[in-house]
Amino acid sequence: MRSLKFKQTLRGQIAGKNFRILAKLSGNKSCDRSRRTQAFFALPEALPDVLVLGGGLMAMAIALELRLRGASVSILSRDRSAAAAYAAAGMLAPQAEKLQGSMAQLCLRSRDLYPDWTAKLEALSGLETGYWASGILNPVFASEVHNHTPALTTAPADSEQTPTQWLDRSAVRQQQPGLSPEVIGGWWFPKDAQVDNRRLVAALTEALRQVGVVWHEGVTVTEIEVGQGRQVRAIATDQGRFTAAHYVLAAGAWSRQLWDLPVSPRKGQMLSVQVHNLQARDLQAQDSSSIQPLRQVLYGDHIYIVPRQDGLIVVGATLENVEFTAGNTPTGLHQLLGEAIRLYPQLQDFPLVETWWGYRPTTPDELPILGPSSLENLTLATGHHRNGILLAPITAQWVTDWILEQNADALLPDFRWDRF
Ligand SMILES: Cc1cc2nc3c(=O)[nH]c(=O)nc-3n(C[C@H](O)[C@H](O)[C@H](O)COP(=O)(O)OP(=O)(O)OC[C@H]3O[C@@H](n4cnc5c(N)ncnc54)[C@H](O)[C@@H]3O)c2cc1C
Repeated sequence: MRSLKFKQTLRGQIAGKNFRILAKLSGNKSCDRSRRTQAFFALPEALPDVLVLGGGLMAMAIALELRLRGASVSILSRDRSAAAAYAAAGMLAPQAEKLQGSMAQLCLRSRDLYPDWTAKLEALSGLETGYWASGILNPVFASEVHNHTPALTTAPADSEQTPTQWLDRSAVRQQQPGLSPEVIGGWWFPKDAQVDNRRLVAALTEALRQVGVVWHEGVTVTEIEVGQGRQVRAIATDQGRFTAAHYVLAAGAWSRQLWDLPVSPRKGQMLSVQVHNLQARDLQAQDSSSIQPLRQVLYGDHIYIVPRQDGLIVVGATLENVEFTAGNTPTGLHQLLGEAIRLYPQLQDFPLVETWWGYRPTTPDELPILGPSSLENLTLATGHHRNGILLAPITAQWVTDWILEQNADALLPDFRWDRF
């Protein structure tokens, strides 16, 4: 692979001249978000040369941001279908997840970026991402109150950015008909949202193609070779050596196989059902509200139920510490179905569509590892555990800020690799 010199004067060049028109997008009918009235995207001429290791959501989001800000970018990906991005539920749920401290701040900021980020992806790709500001409802069972769990007694933080509402027994049923008779109320998080992660991946893939990111699929990175002076010298793969000016490690749950980082897999099993056995032509004839009886994500204690606007319902997820043990298990699926039917009984009659599993990249404190490494030309973006879909836009922004401008957000120290 060609090796380019890392250019020191990026900032001026990015802000400056040599923009070329990428595409005229306003006439595309497949997605009609209002922001798509913007007619042209201007892409800076290629500047530095960055190699991203991994083919999941982090790799894609970072590659796109780098490219849009002037870098020339290539991705080395062993198997894009193995990515957790494909396996996830797509919840954007900083409040329902009851996150604390700097992780809560990071996730709330990323949630705020989502509408514009997905609009940009849709405009670039011409594909829908399924971003849906549906809100998330956290129903509470009577048994949870008897157990004195804090769910009911402690109100989650309520502010303009994090509005929260307690709904009593009758209000929670107005918000979502069909809930279990055991549900005695629920927390409503109107700003939490969701995205259809598989559509998101498709849109990102197409956007990367549009902007000229080079994707090497089926390439397994075997070693990050270290040279003199705290520098990566080259990337060894099963298909030869690759070099660049800068490198990003974004290999998800497999990251520790490539670099000494405390990231390990947490397996999650998932399944989906379809509300009705509708044919495509029926779907076109109906609006989504008449197809999908669920109006928002339901986030229970051990289960979440995520409706898509086309009538699919995604149910997840187990959380298992079993390394890379592949496959769905009867116990896993039994647990998911039992909890889901308990929370939303009518789900028991919907036809099963698919079962699958994936591996969350998890660190000891369950926070991601972001930013600089012990090597000057290696940046880290891994360990996003169960919030990687949510954190994709802010991860892309921070990593790009760091690589192109050595600019670190005030929160970044809390996510550095050397906190362990
Ligand atoms: C069941 C489940 C449900 C989830 N639900 C949600 C949710 O609702 N909301 C949310 O925000 N997050 C969710 N997540 C978490 C989210 O999916 C992950 O945090 C995120 O996708 C991680 O992205 P990544 O790019 O770091 O890793 P991945 O998406 O796993 O990508 C890593 C990529 O690196 C490649 N790779 C690995 N090793 C090598 C190598 N040696 N050479 C080349 N390529 C390599 C892999 O093939 C893979 O394509 C869920 C995860 C799971 C498993």
